[in-house]
Amino acid sequence: MTVYNFSAGPAMLPKPVLAQIKEDIPSFQNSGMSVMEISHRSDLFDNVIADAKNDLRELMNIPDNYKILFLQGGATLQFTALPMNLATQYNHIGLIDTGHWSTRAGEEAEKIGTEVTTVATSKNNDYHQLPEYTDDDNRYDYIHLTTNNTIEGTAFSKLPKTKNVLVGDMSSNFLAQQYNVEDFGAIYAGAQKNLGIAGLTVVIVREDLIGKKPLPSMLDYQLLANKNSMLNTPPVFAIYAAGLTLKWLKDIGGIAEMEKINRQKSNQLYQFLDQSKMFNNLIKPADRSLTNIPFVTGNKELDQELIAQASDRGLVNIKGHRLVGGMRASLYNAMPMEGVVALTDFLEEFEAKHLEEN
Ligand SMILES: *Cc1c(COP(=O)(O)O)cnc(C)c1O
Repeated sequence: MTVYNFSAGPAMLPKPVLAQIKEDIPSFQNSGMSVMEISHRSDLFDNVIADAKNDLRELMNIPDNYKILFLQGGATLQFTALPMNLATQYNHIGLIDTGHWSTRAGEEAEKIGTEVTTVATSKNNDYHQLPEYTDDDNRYDYIHLTTNNTIEGTAFSKLPKTKNVLVGDMSSNFLAQQYNVEDFGAIYAGAQKNLGIAGLTVVIVREDLIGKKPLPSMLDYQLLANKNSMLNTPPVFAIYAAGLTLKWLKDIGGIAEMEKINRQKSNQLYQFLDQSKMFNNLIKPADRSLTNIPFVTGNKELDQELIAQASDRGLVNIKGHRLVGGMRASLYNAMPMEGVVALTDFLEEFEAKHLEEN
């Protein structure tokens, strides 16, 4: 049975990436050792990390004045590291509140004494749409924006106009749609959604924003950048897996091509949901995510029945996040169109059968 994994993360890897990992495991580049066993100070690994950095720079068109860091601790640790490194002038950040992950970013910043002002929120709309935000003066060290809201199913395709530095948590739509890096002072993303496996977090940060004060070494962007992300042992295998994913994305034709495919995939599911009498996606159409699509029937027992039947068919992990319930299909880059078609076919069949019975 073909299994399609709709998990929000850790998520599917591209098939060619898995095949390459399998081939490389016994002996990486004829070294007689796996990637997991080689020294991070070896020439072999130097090439792995250099390639990954160069490919990411090329794919996202990252200008030379931005540093690329390969870190650990997940996107969650960056909720702390970002205010430590960047909130040095006002010790005050603005938060665009679009749901769970943006709230978490604010909470962690407050814990280290950074003042956090919610400058826009769509809480009153149950986060089913994105809030409007613009400003024309610089009063915050940065404005924090979650570009894609993994749980709620919204995404910014147009960025707010701000005189402040914009920082983007791109964890769940990193490399899935095009953004202009120069619109941001910093971008960060956990790898396990769209870039590979857990254990790696990417930070892309403009170099003039960092190095303002001494910090604990493992949280100091400037020091980490000076040491090419190898202040200590880096997550060697996760960086290698990310490198393979980046090569795969280049083969596909880059982010523009990937976005086209992701739009086709998400349209396939949204169009089905919008004409369905049983299923609903509650998100304002202009604000819908390409990568995370929540939907509901409005009946918890029916949801459970559906999730179980889907799983029997190899359509796994469509259970919604506990905060919003229902179902959620995550259509990251590695999810092929065939998987989305299999899901909509199944939903259509389930709906028809149910309507017949009632
Ligand atoms: C998953 C996720 C996180 C948390 O990522 P970790 O790497 O598990 O810390 C943060 N922000 C967003 C938008 C996410 O989707």
